[in-house]
Amino acid sequence: MKITIHRGTNQIGGCITEIQSSKGNKILIDLGHNLPNGDDNADDVFDKQENLNAILKGVSDIFYSHYHGDHIGFEAKIPATIKQHMGELAIKMVSMLKHHMIFAKDLKDDAEASLNALCKFEPYKAFERVQYGDIFVTPLPVSHSAVDAYMFLIECDGCMVLHSGDFRDHGYYATQKLDAIKNYLAQNVDVLITEGTMLGRGDKRVMSEQELQNEAVRKLKGRYNFILCSSMDIDRIVSFSKAREIIDKRIRIIADSYQVAQIKTVKKELPYPYSELFAYPYGRDMKHEFPRMKRYGFMMFVRDSPSFEKRIDEVIAETGILPSEINFVYSQFEGYIKEDHKAFRPRLCNFVHRYNWNLIKLHTSGHASKEALRRLVEITNPQMAIIPIHKEKDSNFAELQLDSNLQDKIVTQSKCFEKQVGNQKVRVEIEIK
Ligand SMILES: [Zn+2]
Repeated sequence: MKITIHRGTNQIGGCITEIQSSKGNKILIDLGHNLPNGDDNADDVFDKQENLNAILKGVSDIFYSHYHGDHIGFEAKIPATIKQHMGELAIKMVSMLKHHMIFAKDLKDDAEASLNALCKFEPYKAFERVQYGDIFVTPLPVSHSAVDAYMFLIECDGCMVLHSGDFRDHGYYATQKLDAIKNYLAQNVDVLITEGTMLGRGDKRVMSEQELQNEAVRKLKGRYNFILCSSMDIDRIVSFSKAREIIDKRIRIIADSYQVAQIKTVKKELPYPYSELFAYPYGRDMKHEFPRMKRYGFMMFVRDSPSFEKRIDEVIAETGILPSEINFVYSQFEGYIKEDHKAFRPRLCNFVHRYNWNLIKLHTSGHASKEALRRLVEITNPQMAIIPIHKEKDSNFAELQLDSNLQDKIVTQSKCFEKQVGNQKVRVEIEIK
């Protein structure tokens, strides 16, 4: 078999992993678009159809670990002969996003093309082992800042490969999900391909989503709050919603109609605390809503767009609440609003500082802490190779200080292995581009 890491060993996002069996069957795990630089659009060599076609040659199926834009993004340009797979709820979430994007003139055409592709996606199911040619794929649910996210166990030519996708051990149900994966893996894997986003980001302990919820209870008490977090990060929306419930259930929790629709979908499909989610839609009956917001306080989810700027201005004008009485809760990666960071987004930064309000930064990563990465290595005990992907160029897996026998298995350059399977020697080629 051959494992090709097309992209990801020296950049976060834009991950593409290919698995090819000795008989020539070929699948991809994630086909992610590059992340944008600041406010600019993301450049990607695979935006050119001929480059994309070249990488897709011979591929029968693409498995997306989750819906973040750096793991998906080319879905509309994939020839119909190639099947695309994602979790059922994840497909719904992206479809809702694309339906919402249709309202923006400059995004309409791409959103429609994407919706056309998404309606042909084939959903996979947790722990359901399915055969594609001579390759078996089993999706294993994980916690991430996207709902319905998965790792994949791939069995090919008598070898077991675990691809971690993006995961963490500090979200809701995160440890239960990792325990379930541990129980499912009856034996050691041969190759572990794992994300390493948090490597190189220091040793500070990572706050859990539950701890963030507790912080929100403490910091958002008795105030008026605009909250900026990813609309697709359902764990985070749960954290603020639960905080509101603890502080005072009368506090008005408000989102736009798109986010309300998402919340309703998730609520139907997932257990507690997701099943408790709800929000009032902005726009309906605001004449009566403004006095309630003023009286009971509010938590209103916002995004950095002109329509939300208008709404924020409207809330302030109609309620007469002073900016000094308002919290603006920034709940995303801090690099986006740090001028000296390469991910700095000037437009977003202006939005965050629109008023002289009380800025609260409250965020925790969607990615695996060093402890979580160590745990995954322990659970899988890779016999052949550990391939770190979804990581910065300079970050190093050696930071994990694994036992030397595991440390020696870290692969950062192309390499070949052999495994005895029954009375046959199987060649495993790892190519890192
Ligand atoms: Zn992700």
